[in-house]
Amino acid sequence: MKKVSIIGGGIIGLCSAYYLAKEGYEVVVFDKSDMNDGCSYGNAGMIVPSHIIPLAQPGMIAQGIKWMFDSHSPFYVKPRLNLDLMKWGLQFYKHANYKHVEKAMPALRDLSLLSKELYQDFARQNSSFFYEEKGLLMLFKTDKTGIEIEHEGILAERLGLQVDFLSKAEVSQLEKGTVTDVIGGVHYKSDAHIYPQKFMQFIKDELNRMNVKIEQNTSVNDFVLKNNKVAEIITDKGTFTTDEVVLAAGSWSPYIARKLNINISILPGKGYSFTLKDQEHKPTIPSILCEGKVAVTPMNTDIRFGGTMEITHTNDIKINQNRLQGIVNSINDFYPELKIEMPKEEDTWFGFRPCTPSGMPIIARDKKLKNLTVVTGHAMMGLSLAPATGKIVSEIIAEKPASVNTQMFQL
Ligand SMILES: Cc1cc2nc3c(=O)[nH]c(=O)nc-3n(C[C@H](O)[C@H](O)[C@H](O)COP(=O)(O)OP(=O)(O)OC[C@H]3O[C@@H](n4cnc5c(N)ncnc54)[C@H](O)[C@@H]3O)c2cc1C
Repeated sequence: MKKVSIIGGGIIGLCSAYYLAKEGYEVVVFDKSDMNDGCSYGNAGMIVPSHIIPLAQPGMIAQGIKWMFDSHSPFYVKPRLNLDLMKWGLQFYKHANYKHVEKAMPALRDLSLLSKELYQDFARQNSSFFYEEKGLLMLFKTDKTGIEIEHEGILAERLGLQVDFLSKAEVSQLEKGTVTDVIGGVHYKSDAHIYPQKFMQFIKDELNRMNVKIEQNTSVNDFVLKNNKVAEIITDKGTFTTDEVVLAAGSWSPYIARKLNINISILPGKGYSFTLKDQEHKPTIPSILCEGKVAVTPMNTDIRFGGTMEITHTNDIKINQNRLQGIVNSINDFYPELKIEMPKEEDTWFGFRPCTPSGMPIIARDKKLKNLTVVTGHAMMGLSLAPATGKIVSEIIAEKPASVNTQMFQL
């Protein structure tokens, strides 16, 4: 059987490894880290068929410019004189229109719904990662935001998703864990959630059981190309031959792609989270606090809060206290009983979401290098879309028809 080498052991790489091993391939995963704390671990754990509108959407440019002048805002582009950033910005601008969103919505819905089915399969096997189907509440405090959120809900309903439009009183009836100070909400009943760290452990255990080799603390640095194929992978621990390569290195994918003479436009969208234990009052339904774009997820007995999207670079590892304060302020505004304090620096997690300028993930065979599949750019939906993405990677490599239409996920 062919040997498939996967570069990147985040959730996208590991789910790809899982479905490839299931197809009978010999699989090896390379990751430069010890695979314990990257973007796939501290995220908000939401499985979101509700998220059918990509980041590149009408209105986002104007909103983004306004937010750039507010140090507590949830979305920020770190200005710098950099060619990659300028190219990314131009492409983002080109995609922020209705035509793109109209094409993107059914493609994201189908990929998401497939992913949720696959999560349900995993959850039937194992309960260790606390899969729950409580939906997602989009909560809002102002009429302006309410109108936008309800409009998105109507679009989702038209695409067949189950959506409830809730008054203030109906939100309180649904969310009994704590007081919510909002004027209304939209409840996407299709959504689910998990505990990301526990899922990552579950999938690593599955891969071990299936004899997938995991080479952690091994950085992929270069390649040997022969006859329009990747013949060898050069790492800091030696050189490995391969039949197929899957590039799944999240926000670092562009650097690796450059070694293969491929241009991938991805920038990291830095976000923060912190997880609290033993809270007396806590929300019980996963929610997004819309004005502050804060995600709130109950995970077993813990509660995780996550937010901000700073378009930056992968060396930017500083925790921006103003933006963290923005998250804390939103939580206290929406849930007055919680009285959350600023988390300590050591209790604050951050991760880099791999963001394409179109807001669409890439799940595609390269056109020039015949044994290369690129699978990255899942931005704020990587956990949600990972199982479906992994399954499609296995279908691409096995040359089987894809489970969903992949036209919108090309390089
Ligand atoms: C605050 C926050 C909240 C989020 N909430 C959600 C959510 O609720 N739902 C959701 O679906 N998504 C969410 N996301 C997004 C999600 O976490 C990401 O989309 C996802 O983790 C990306 O996975 P990945 O495997 O593509 O990348 P990563 O997890 O970043 O994995 C890439 C891997 O490649 C490795 N690598 C890099 N370079 C090399 C090299 N040269 N050699 C070998 N290995 C290399 C890295 O070490 C890393 O382990 C959130 C993100 C953030 C920041």
